[in-house]
Amino acid sequence: MSDAGTGRRHRVVVVGGGFGGLSVTRALDKAPVDITVVDRTNHHLFQPLLYEVATGILSEGVIAPALRSVLKRQENVRALLAEVTALDLTSRTVTAIAPDGEVLELPYDTLVVSAGATHAYFGHDEWAAYAPGMKTLEDARRLRRHILGAFEMAEMAELAKDPEERAAWLTFVVVGAGPTGVELTGQIAELAHRVLPRDYRAIDTRQATIILIDAAPAVLPPFKEKLQRYTKRTLEKMGIEIRVSTAAVDMDDDSITVKGPDGEQEIRARTKIWAAGVRASSLARMLGEASGAGLDRAGRVAVQPDCTLPGHPEVFAIGDMVSLNGLPGVAQPAMQEGGYVAKVITSRVTDQPAPEPFKYFDKGSMATIGRGRAVADAFGVRLTGVPAFGTWAFIHVLYLIGWGSRISTLYRWSWGMFTRNRGQRLVTVGQAREELTHRKFDELRSSSADALSSTAPPASEAR
Ligand SMILES: Cc1cc2nc3c(=O)[nH]c(=O)nc-3n(C[C@H](O)[C@H](O)[C@H](O)COP(=O)(O)OP(=O)(O)OC[C@H]3O[C@@H](n4cnc5c(N)ncnc54)[C@H](O)[C@@H]3O)c2cc1C
Repeated sequence: MSDAGTGRRHRVVVVGGGFGGLSVTRALDKAPVDITVVDRTNHHLFQPLLYEVATGILSEGVIAPALRSVLKRQENVRALLAEVTALDLTSRTVTAIAPDGEVLELPYDTLVVSAGATHAYFGHDEWAAYAPGMKTLEDARRLRRHILGAFEMAEMAELAKDPEERAAWLTFVVVGAGPTGVELTGQIAELAHRVLPRDYRAIDTRQATIILIDAAPAVLPPFKEKLQRYTKRTLEKMGIEIRVSTAAVDMDDDSITVKGPDGEQEIRARTKIWAAGVRASSLARMLGEASGAGLDRAGRVAVQPDCTLPGHPEVFAIGDMVSLNGLPGVAQPAMQEGGYVAKVITSRVTDQPAPEPFKYFDKGSMATIGRGRAVADAFGVRLTGVPAFGTWAFIHVLYLIGWGSRISTLYRWSWGMFTRNRGQRLVTVGQAREELTHRKFDELRSSSADALSSTAPPASEAR
């Protein structure tokens, strides 16, 4: 079907190929529209398993299939690798920057924006340098280099007979005890206690101190109390120190200062990981300014009950960047909103009655803690331990895209369970250096080469 009077098909531009963007795109498979999906990465990222990339369990490709390959059979879609920088709701144009810097203008009849969220450091953006967060594949790679680099440095500190340094390298502090913080601390503990001990000669990695802090009074704040108690108990049994009602108040390369019920304390820790706050994509603010829609404290734009923006029925926003009916920033709302928006678009282009406003179907929530340990809360049933872990594993494998990724994940998990090993542990001295010191290895190498050449004997004396 062509748009009335134009002789061409209805053009839909989808910004973001994450959970929301991919859902809307796939659900428009049979619709008489031409879709352009623009994303600043070339992959669809399965964020719930990012922590497994960060801790060396899974390889990146398994959780991040190329968008082109995911969409290759859907003929009404083209994918573009470009970063969206402006949304002009008046001229109905999306502006994006291509990899070579070229500016692309993408006209649309319908726009769907699902650009997700990023980290929020509660007014302390400078902490990003000391406590990296984990939202993208690059973040997970960086964390992996940092964590592996810290164990390497601890070994060297021990060889240099510097116990204080060794302890600082072997101290890991995770800020934020939501599902991501719990999953990360659990996996760092498994690395230190089960995977690495036999690999090191000087240090005992089981002596690592792993601390989980949160300003809230309990771990996993959105979960029911029984599940919170189970999680806390399990983490403590795994050797993790939990500090609730405790906030980060300062940090630098070597330490973090926290404030809790017993006052302020500085903890020497070379590894700090941020799993605390989120802020909506900056495109949410752009949409708010252009349409008059309000923003909440997390910068999420308030959408109408049908996911459109006020005064702009042709513009939809979904997922983590919107506030709608108090829904949480997790995958299910993004996916269900995507499916719903596809129905609205299809009804419009096929002259069918519009569907009812969006209604969320809560399928529950779950979080994994470690091997064979998880919590799940769905349809009034609360599970812990192995049953919860089995449910968690089944659902996560099911939602991964492609049989190759599913089989590879199952294989990696089984292999890790039997061998106590992890296959994704590659790091170079340059990469670790950059993560641990924020300086490029090349600069350090050339400055140390200068220092060496200034102390070197004249060439004629050299042998
Ligand atoms: C570490 C982690 C673990 C999580 N675990 C769970 C879990 O276990 N269960 C659960 O339900 N949810 C989980 N979530 C949350 C879930 O992943 C998100 O709610 C979901 O991804 C939101 O979908 P979205 O489409 O709004 O955003 P995303 O899936 O983040 O997609 C946004 C897309 O937009 C692209 N983009 C952003 N800005 C631009 C731009 N300017 N130009 C072009 N492209 C752009 C991004 O590259 C990305 O591909 C987790 C999130 C994280 C970070």
